[in-house]
Amino acid sequence: MRNSNEIWDFVEARKDPLIALSDAVWAVPELNFGEFRSVALHGATLENEGFRVTRDVAGLPTAIMGEAGEGGPVIAILGEYDALPGLSQQAGITEHRPLPGDGNGHACGHNLLGSASLLAATAVKNWLAATGTPGRVRYYGCPAEEGGAGKGFMVRAGVFDDVDAAISWHPFCFATIFPPAALANVRLDFTFTGRAAHAAAAPHLGRSALDAAELMNIGVNYLREHMLPTSRIHYAYQDAGGVAPNVVQARTVIRYTVRAAELEDMLALAERVRRVAEGAAMMTETTVTCAVISGMANLLGNPPLEAAMQANLERLGPPPFDAADQAFAREMQATFTEQDIASAFRQVGLPVDRDTALCDMILPYPTAAGPVILGSTDVGDVSWTVPTVQALGATCAIGTALHSWQMTAQGTSALAHKGMVHVAKIMAATATDLLSDPALLERAKQDHAAKLRQRPYVSPIPPEVQPPVLYPDQAAE
Ligand SMILES: [Zn+2]
Repeated sequence: MRNSNEIWDFVEARKDPLIALSDAVWAVPELNFGEFRSVALHGATLENEGFRVTRDVAGLPTAIMGEAGEGGPVIAILGEYDALPGLSQQAGITEHRPLPGDGNGHACGHNLLGSASLLAATAVKNWLAATGTPGRVRYYGCPAEEGGAGKGFMVRAGVFDDVDAAISWHPFCFATIFPPAALANVRLDFTFTGRAAHAAAAPHLGRSALDAAELMNIGVNYLREHMLPTSRIHYAYQDAGGVAPNVVQARTVIRYTVRAAELEDMLALAERVRRVAEGAAMMTETTVTCAVISGMANLLGNPPLEAAMQANLERLGPPPFDAADQAFAREMQATFTEQDIASAFRQVGLPVDRDTALCDMILPYPTAAGPVILGSTDVGDVSWTVPTVQALGATCAIGTALHSWQMTAQGTSALAHKGMVHVAKIMAATATDLLSDPALLERAKQDHAAKLRQRPYVSPIPPEVQPPVLYPDQAAE
């Protein structure tokens, strides 16, 4: 059945320029809100492919939107292109060797993410034109997924308000459906302010902001026993107050990420963390302020859309990996621990199989493991706004950790390209299902409306918080 479907031919027809886009974005890894070269590459591709292009979407200089088609429902296909710091790596090799430069690298595969979504949108555009079907497809290039909550700001600006359904994906080592198990989260910066003093001559005059931060961490460690088991709290010092032990530290900044399976539980837990900070300030006679940096809602599932996507996956079959892809994947697996590989299989409910280095099967959905939590994603906020479905595309050796040099190393490989084209077919076919089957779209909308009746959406980003946008001259070179 492979490639028998018309829409898959439309994907095949435009895969080469979109693979080139992915490789070009991989080569200019840029951090959140600084994706100027990446968004320019996406803009040029959208224009070449004949989309109507809108730049600076939601006032974000690195967000872009391309639309095609007339009338009918609006289907959004979401892409990303931000990279990560400290994960630079030479492509196509199986040893850790960072490239010279700023140290950034595409260790989450977002070069593939944006390009596969744009490929799917291009195929849907050409299918709409060829079949004369009423309907519109939009590619949304979304900045700052890595901790910046770009889509949350786009949701708040209303750019998805006239969208009927949204489709996206994420790179992974298995081709399957993204389970609705991403956690809601919020990032909070706590700034403690005390009073500096000579730590030996006048310790009684000092009020230590560092003590306050440390007592806050201890308080939160005790809090962890009394929260839901799926909740997560982690922290990192942004400013520990200086390097001199003979000075009482007057200012300390610590960033907390608070996560929970449900948005309302996350917001309640963040309040408890705030109270712990206030307690620490009281104990140390310091003051504390709390600033929200970003926030993301949990991901809402949509069973009608997940079933439609799974049917497309079953019709298409697994990605067409060849012996050379298998050999590269096996070599890459030699750099993982046995635990990395075993946990990848267990995550999707499969027995550990050391003879399988690349996804060569179609998993049932839901998998035997049930929905396994995969961190957080700002697609969560989109999923509260419109019915949303995501795929996971097989673009790396089984056991590859997201945010690892191994992920960066595989980002321009033949196997990643095959996984990218494969997932573009799944997304494009699901979009054409929605454009040609009004009953499916209606079922998706009813499921979404029922979920929102139970729990209304509250943006985890307070209204006064603005995105930390950069302009081209501020982006680090
Ligand atoms: Zn990612």
